[in-house]
Amino acid sequence: MNKNDTVTEQPKINNKEYKVAEIIEESPDVKLYKFRALDNTKLDFDPGMFVMIKYKDQTQEIARAFSIASEPNSETLDFYIHLINGRFTSKIALAKVGDIYYITGPYGQFKFIPGENKKLMFIAGGTGIAPFISMLRYIITRKLDVDVILFYSVRFSNEIIARSELQEMEKLVNLKTIITVTREDTSWNGEHGRITKEMIEKYMPECNERMTYICGPLEFAKAMKNISISCNIPSEKISADIWG
Ligand SMILES: Cc1cc2nc3c(=O)[nH]c(=O)nc-3n(C[C@H](O)[C@H](O)[C@H](O)COP(=O)(O)OP(=O)(O)OC[C@H]3O[C@@H](n4cnc5c(N)ncnc54)[C@H](O)[C@@H]3O)c2cc1C
Repeated sequence: MNKNDTVTEQPKINNKEYKVAEIIEESPDVKLYKFRALDNTKLDFDPGMFVMIKYKDQTQEIARAFSIASEPNSETLDFYIHLINGRFTSKIALAKVGDIYYITGPYGQFKFIPGENKKLMFIAGGTGIAPFISMLRYIITRKLDVDVILFYSVRFSNEIIARSELQEMEKLVNLKTIITVTREDTSWNGEHGRITKEMIEKYMPECNERMTYICGPLEFAKAMKNISISCNIPSEKISADIWG
């Protein structure tokens, strides 16, 4: 699912004013931005969905899609934003607490619906971990009876997002996280290299039973979809959020 597929959806909020409540450096290129509605209302959505965040000044307006990392109805809407020095990201890289942005949404068919499937596989690339953080927080808060295996690919170990939160989550829910580092990184003792069919089958021989969610940039998400199909996961059990 990408933002162009969803323009016909009716958003619950439209250009609503949010202020930057907190900014946390998560990795060298990724910051966690927490936004609070000016009127302090909370937003309901299904975990996995995204919103459009708009930057506005006297000369321009730039809106981009961002997956929500916080749980539905939280005090803040949280986003992990990869600062790539593009049109939007070069603006938000300079944001300060108190700055105003405009949010429209939520959107998207990439969402976790409780009760539909107990056995889940999440596959994330880079900041594609964001919707899974929302899903896992939601699962933990509601003490849902699920069995989740998360494959998470980053280039370097210092790019792992929400590392300590994921470790804590493993104690709170039936979650196994496999992080793989794709570039040369001698400080990393875990898996190395891209996620492959062999890597998935090593940790999960029965993967074809799992509802599979994939999120990340275009090439990553396409490759993971093909790998999931080669693991005999039926296409109706594969949901991909493709950022591109
Ligand atoms: C449904 C959806 C959810 C998304 N959620 C998130 C999210 O949670 N966090 C997040 O960081 N992004 C997310 N994105 C991507 C986001 O919407 C923007 O595309 C991204 O932030 C770049 O915007 P920009 O205006 O800074 O770059 P642009 O000015 O639009 O692009 C600048 C240039 O950089 C290239 N580029 C784009 N992305 C990357 C990249 N990752 N690495 C290197 N080069 C790149 C572009 O091809 C372009 O040439 C999501 C996209 C979609 C469709």
